[in-house]
Amino acid sequence: MKYLIITFFSCLSIYVNGQIESFDFIHKEVEIRLMQDIEFLSSDDLSGRLPGTPGANLASDHIQDAFQRLGLKPLFNEGFKQAFNIPRPTDIPKNRNYIAIAKDTLYLSRKLHVSPYALTNDFIGNALYVSHGIYSDSINDYEGILETSLNDKLVLIELDIPKNKKKKAGDKSKISSRILEAKKRGAKNIILLSKKNSKNNKISNYTFSKLQEIDVNVSIVYGKKWSRKIHRSKKPIISVTNVSKRNAEGFNVGGVLDIGANSTVLIGAHYDHLGKGQYHGSRKLSGQVYNGADDNASGVSVMLEVLNQLNLNSGFIRSNVVFIAFSGEEDGLIGSKYFVKNCPFDPSIISQMINIDMVGRLNNSDSLTIYATSSALEWETIINDLTKTEINIKNVAEIFPRSDHAAFIDAGIPAIMLHTGIHQDYHTPSDDFEKIDVSGVVKITEVVLQILQKLNKFSHFK
Ligand SMILES: [Zn+2]
Repeated sequence: MKYLIITFFSCLSIYVNGQIESFDFIHKEVEIRLMQDIEFLSSDDLSGRLPGTPGANLASDHIQDAFQRLGLKPLFNEGFKQAFNIPRPTDIPKNRNYIAIAKDTLYLSRKLHVSPYALTNDFIGNALYVSHGIYSDSINDYEGILETSLNDKLVLIELDIPKNKKKKAGDKSKISSRILEAKKRGAKNIILLSKKNSKNNKISNYTFSKLQEIDVNVSIVYGKKWSRKIHRSKKPIISVTNVSKRNAEGFNVGGVLDIGANSTVLIGAHYDHLGKGQYHGSRKLSGQVYNGADDNASGVSVMLEVLNQLNLNSGFIRSNVVFIAFSGEEDGLIGSKYFVKNCPFDPSIISQMINIDMVGRLNNSDSLTIYATSSALEWETIINDLTKTEINIKNVAEIFPRSDHAAFIDAGIPAIMLHTGIHQDYHTPSDDFEKIDVSGVVKITEVVLQILQKLNKFSHFK
């Protein structure tokens, strides 16, 4: 036993048929179950739960077994699992990824990077420089540039933005926003130019993965020499990209607790993680298992325990509850986006979605952050009303679109994300079970139950 068991009870007050009732929440038992789930999901045996690997399949089987044992109905025609594809770059050959101007050629190297999600493409044409490529309320780098002129040009965007401009542009200064803006205006081929070197200025695969569904080729040129050469070139530029891909198969695991209510709440937590860092990790740490105890074995364990509590205390809820463990989150919310688009029922019947992502480090900041509370009017009231919790709750209106709730908000479904914060082990092999604050995870389970209870009062909305 690696932890101390403290036996105590707390009472959660609940509404049943309009009356307040309570039930015992046995901390000791809850804690043991949470520990077991987190320890299993983050063990080396699961090899970091990378979609398409046996480790991820063991995790999805574990969740499916729990759903089955706790009486959920399968959510999909095929059963509890919904399969989808995750494109994975396998090979970016040096001699087939290059930029050439007349007789000079820059091959893939520290000076030329190519998005791992680029298409296989040969382009020849003139360059069109659009400064930093920002379009916001106060900045328009596209002034005077005809929208139709982008599609047959190689669009050049300066990667590094001066501090003042960056501040002024806010979210619009993000690389992904700027690429999307260019794409919206017809760009098909983009080169980001950076006068700096690539060492501290590398764009993460995570950033690129957010753009994988859009058809646009992005290369990045580092260093003064080639940045200037490309910018000043009067001659046509050749840009060749060649990335081989293969699909990995990911599975969302979903079930429904159907009580015949006319409102439905969805609770989600992603179970996938980074494997051995093959696609999103640091090269220096390759080969080590990214166990992902906090990210997000913690969230999955809370979801399973909430289901367990709803089973032990029938009558606690007035809504049907859909439970989903998403995959493909780390690859750019692929699983949750796929679910929303390929939902086995009309997704608009979901009155609210609760996303639990990284809730294992309450002791770090001593607070639980709830993001995206601006997504529905009721969140504010519900969260202000969480009087029985002994933890600090930070109510944040912003969406923080880096986890699965964003896919639901995009589809017009109110959603929040529960999170105990980023730490130094985040997305490294040291996000381990031993560092989980289990008593914190117990408290967060209580918070989710209380939110569900309070949603009862709002179930007439849908
Ligand atoms: Zn993550």
